[in-house]
Amino acid sequence: MTTTKETCSASTVAVKAGIEADKAYGAVTPPLYLSSNYTFSDFAEPRQYDYSRSGNPTRDLLADALSDLEGGSGAVITSTGMSAVLLVTQLLKAGDLVIAPHDCYGGTYRLFRNLADKGHFRILFVDQNDPIALQDAFSHNPKLLWIETPSNPLLRIVDIQKLSTLAHQHHCLVAVDNTFLTPIYQKPFELGADIVVHSTTKYINGHSDVVGGAVIGKTEELAEQLKWWANCVGITASPFDSFLTLRGLRTLSARLKQHEINTKDVLEYLLQHSQVDKVYHPSIEQHPGHLIAKHQQSGFGIMISFELAGDELDIKNFIRSLNQFSLAESLGGVESLICHPASMTHAAMDPEARQTAGIKSNLLRVSLGIEDSGDLISDLDRAFQYVNQCRITQQAV
Ligand code: PLP
Repeated sequence: MTTTKETCSASTVAVKAGIEADKAYGAVTPPLYLSSNYTFSDFAEPRQYDYSRSGNPTRDLLADALSDLEGGSGAVITSTGMSAVLLVTQLLKAGDLVIAPHDCYGGTYRLFRNLADKGHFRILFVDQNDPIALQDAFSHNPKLLWIETPSNPLLRIVDIQKLSTLAHQHHCLVAVDNTFLTPIYQKPFELGADIVVHSTTKYINGHSDVVGGAVIGKTEELAEQLKWWANCVGITASPFDSFLTLRGLRTLSARLKQHEINTKDVLEYLLQHSQVDKVYHPSIEQHPGHLIAKHQQSGFGIMISFELAGDELDIKNFIRSLNQFSLAESLGGVESLICHPASMTHAAMDPEARQTAGIKSNLLRVSLGIEDSGDLISDLDRAFQYVNQCRITQQAV
């Protein structure tokens, strides 16, 4: 039976992206077009593609797939998630004000802070769950509201619909970094956003072998502006990275199902553990964003952060004794990772900004892979026991 894209579920759209697109040989999966340039068919007659910075058939398949999944009008595939963030800032003029979350991803914080310091635009980092701070920020005529929900690493939730309505009343564009949830769990355009951003390095590619990004425009006008700037600045992704990411995207929905099982199991384990001070996950009823997450997301998300009851040495011992979790900064791959935000992803923030954002030095963030959850829990269990043993040995000395 033939179905149109509009009637298919997200998992089908992701699997089918670019399938049977090859007109030359009928290849089932799309070919990889590495060529940097394309011939003109005749004098002053360019074909659909002329130069790969501006457009590339392999990259366009990924752009179309992500635009379809998010429900946008067009997408740009960028070389990294950070260049996707940078691309959005090209829509601003000097003097324009950006409102960003005080606890956004450290790299985004660093980019906004430094561009603002050089006069590219003005920036206000605010707690977007604080109505007074928001009201004050909006009284300064902002041009862009940057939203990251759930936030990295504390998984705070903000109400996209409420904030978008407020922003639009002030003629302010809304951009949502949807990296942590992907279009499978959250559809920012349906909640009022104008632009969606992804670090495709994470769940979308899912195999920790590509660094990439995407920016999707809700309207054709925005999508065209973004495409123009991407070509102008020269931050479009390579064909090979696009090919790998398109391949990773096909299994996104299937991967998320196992990620979700592992998250649920590990969460249950951490919540009852005496060596854990606090667990952060929106599925926990006491989480301040639980009800918003339940309403605006179709899954609670698959990252967990927790505070280990202990000092720096305990953190070091815990991390060093893990076998199934690699100590690494990224997230969203099939393999489980552990990260210490204060010394890794959020080291670019000064200690005061980290403190304001609530990122403590005993905070750990885990990206659960798709391994067997029993193996992951046994590994965590062993690491907690090791921390205890080290303490006993230390006391005995
Ligand atoms: N946005 C979020 C939420 C992230 O976590 C990251 C990276 O960790 C980025 C953007 C930047 O992406 P990239 O590392 O692909 O440049």
